[in-house]
Amino acid sequence: MGARATETTRELESTSIKYQIGGHAEKMWQRLKGILRCLVKQLEKGDINVVDLKKNIEYAASVLEAVYIDETRKLLDTEDELSDIQSDSVPLEVRDWLASTFTREMGIVKRRPEEKPKFRSIVHAVQAGIFVERMYRRTSSMVGLAYPAEVIVTFKIPVPNLISFAEALEVGYSKYKNPYHNLIHAADVTQTVHYIMIHTGIMHWLTELEILAMIFAAAVHDYEHTGTTNNFHIQTRSDVAILYNDRSVLENHHVSAAYRLMQEEEMNILANLTKDDWRELRSLVIEMVLSTDMSGHFQQIKTMRHTLQQTEGVDKAKAMSLILHAADISHPAKSWELHYRWTMALMEEFFRQGDKEAALGLQFSPLCDRKSTLVAQSQIGFIDFIVEPTFSLLTDSMEKIVMPLIEEASKSESPAFGTPSQNSLGAVSNAEAQRRPSFKSTSDGGTHTENSLATVNLTSFKDNLMKIIQANKERWKELAVEEELVKNVGEQEKDQSRNSTDAQLQEETTRIQNESSQGSDGTTCPPRSIVLQVVSFDTPLSDESNSEKCTNSDPNQKDLTDAQQETQNTDPQNGEPKHCKKSEDSVKATEKEALIQN
Ligand code: 5GP
Ligand code: MN
Repeated sequence: MGARATETTRELESTSIKYQIGGHAEKMWQRLKGILRCLVKQLEKGDINVVDLKKNIEYAASVLEAVYIDETRKLLDTEDELSDIQSDSVPLEVRDWLASTFTREMGIVKRRPEEKPKFRSIVHAVQAGIFVERMYRRTSSMVGLAYPAEVIVTFKIPVPNLISFAEALEVGYSKYKNPYHNLIHAADVTQTVHYIMIHTGIMHWLTELEILAMIFAAAVHDYEHTGTTNNFHIQTRSDVAILYNDRSVLENHHVSAAYRLMQEEEMNILANLTKDDWRELRSLVIEMVLSTDMSGHFQQIKTMRHTLQQTEGVDKAKAMSLILHAADISHPAKSWELHYRWTMALMEEFFRQGDKEAALGLQFSPLCDRKSTLVAQSQIGFIDFIVEPTFSLLTDSMEKIVMPLIEEASKSESPAFGTPSQNSLGAVSNAEAQRRPSFKSTSDGGTHTENSLATVNLTSFKDNLMKIIQANKERWKELAVEEELVKNVGEQEKDQSRNSTDAQLQEETTRIQNESSQGSDGTTCPPRSIVLQVVSFDTPLSDESNSEKCTNSDPNQKDLTDAQQETQNTDPQNGEPKHCKKSEDSVKATEKEALIQN
């Protein structure tokens, strides 16, 4: 009797010790369950004394507590995630960049020429139209506005307010003339969020208000971006860094400034929302935009992965935040031409920050030194460690949420599966049913069912994305070989190889120009930084080339590329519509711009 109880105690002791040494939580749970069952049996038989029973239960409680603490710690500690990354597979600067961008270890980047750190030590590291539719771009275009009457009637957002608000957004996005964080990026992310909602079927899980929150959050998520990073704000003790106490400095500003716009009556697009809806939308928007702070990336991924393992449903705000975060880093999942251009635009923005850092006597932030940054290699790291895991989690999450809806809908032939009913964005309060029917009323009273759950194909959505991401990675690998050569050869040879990299980049530039622009007239080869700028900002996309490019065999990708190319007909530098300029003019303009900037 007593002996058996002591046995149980011993088992508990040994397992809890093993556990504390770092045993497997899963096994521990199983054991604990077995031991508790054993105690119950002993109790039923009356085969145990009270002292032993108490001891055993206390043990069980302490083991349970230990497992709980460990699980919580694991959830908060993103180090595990990164420990299996081979230190040699990632260049030092890329690791530094991952560390300073995707973790909360802010901005302290030390050069370690001799001591090559184990990846683990910086691991904390890598712990690394829609709404603003162009149809409303000019007030005058309202004259030709052709919305069906019922849409106008049910649309809760006052159209003049929407126009004023969208115009103010455009001004804010153009304020710092950023190569990357500008109004095109905002439109791109908004379109991508829209795309994801439709093609994953997640829109059927969201309410009207939540869909509005998603689109709105995407549209404002980088409003008045300064073209510099949070770390730069913190290091330079900027006003916003002081205002927001170094916490998600830019992201706090984006939401706050966008809401400040709506304090003006004529820009208040949320004027017709009920108090409850207004509050709910605001809370969702704040959570989503703050989650675009990349320093929370690993924590976000880990928490969501954990959620997916649970039997409970997925938290809506978390799922929506993941969609926005994925859309925000989605260009590597788009055609090479687009991805390459976005990359070069971002690199130019980083380099401009580097120029500022140099002028201020600050150390270069990772990837910000235009003379030494290994663009191709850094892109491989970004795709491997950030983009792929994010999209893999996105598709897994969408599967967990949407598959049951599809099954349910196919059984009951619910409206979401194709049967028409009444609805339109902004027309219905949040009190409405959770699942939205998906159809589009047409002016002749008919309905489309192209966005119904029946058309959702998550497997093809996932395969398509992964295929494109892989293909882009392969392209960077090819370019990285050249970069590596440049890095490794001696000073003189280095110069020669740099020319060869320049030549390769130039070749890439010319190829893209030829593919995407009919007006390319063969410019002389400018210095490397200029090459990057030319590719980024001055490769006009003609309408013809748009339609040409959109003959992608996959309809999903076609959509993704399509809308973005439309938005790219705007000059990213000043937000003005861009018409097919000759590339020579473009180079001159860019050089001039570079001179002004410098
Ligand atoms: P955003 O600043 O747009 O809200 O968040 C996106 C962030 O993801 C960028 O600031 C940048 O840190 C990172 N990012 C997006 N695209 C790329 C890319 O192509 N390469 C690298 N290295 N980082 C990227
Ligand atoms: Mn963004």
